[in-house]
Amino acid sequence: MPDQDTIFDRIVSGDAPAEIVYSDDQVIAFKDINPQAPVHVILVPREHNLDSLNDVSKLDYSLLGHLFYTAAKVANQLDIAESGYRIVINTGDAAGQTVQYLHVHLLGGRNLSWPPG
Ligand code: AMP
Repeated sequence: MPDQDTIFDRIVSGDAPAEIVYSDDQVIAFKDINPQAPVHVILVPREHNLDSLNDVSKLDYSLLGHLFYTAAKVANQLDIAESGYRIVINTGDAAGQTVQYLHVHLLGGRNLSWPPG
């Protein structure tokens, strides 16, 4: 059972502040507090059922599709769709995941090097 008291739980419930850029019945997107690019947005499902990509099952396919679709929509809304952007899902310690609540990073507004650090 996920710990339902992460910072993202508190943002979704409205108990912690965030600069929300998009919201619907399934997903909330807000600006990252420590941006790594001129545009750095975090997208989370409203329901905290998944701590990471490792917890995903076939039942979550539609939610994942909605998260990716929404990331592209927010990229368009924030004018980085044409120049290019990256979406990232850090999973586990070695990838630097710090918040145990499945989330997608949307990064853009500058050239992004490859391979990532
Ligand atoms: P990750 O390392 O993939 O788990 O990403 C967690 C992200 O959440 C980091 O980029 C943090 O800067 C971001 N973050 C942590 N606390 C907040 C907050 N209160 N509001 C917005 N973003 C946050």
